[in-house]
Amino acid sequence: MFRDMQCPKCFNVIETHSCKFCGIKDVFHSDERIVKQEVYNGYFVSTVHTVIDHDMTGEGSLWFETMVFKGEKVSSDTVYVKRCQYPDEAVLQHEEAKMIIDKGLNHE
Ligand SMILES: [Zn+2]
Repeated sequence: MFRDMQCPKCFNVIETHSCKFCGIKDVFHSDERIVKQEVYNGYFVSTVHTVIDHDMTGEGSLWFETMVFKGEKVSSDTVYVKRCQYPDEAVLQHEEAKMIIDKGLNHE
């Protein structure tokens, strides 16, 4: 299945790992992907642009992903994942993940 790719900086549709619109050489390893990353109450909360559309339902693109990892950095120990379409939603989604940590991820 073909999945669309989007530049994390200018949000244009791209076909290769470099963006011909804004000049990013390798979109997958660009800092522009990071919306917010922080350590919060013993968890690493990471919200990034995924570059590849993660929508599986056909209901709309999902470009942003918030993941919560146990510990202070990215690891295989993922305890929470949520995805959304727009940058402003991604910022809210990041804060929501922190609220969920407050409410009870600590008890798992
Ligand atoms: Zn671009």
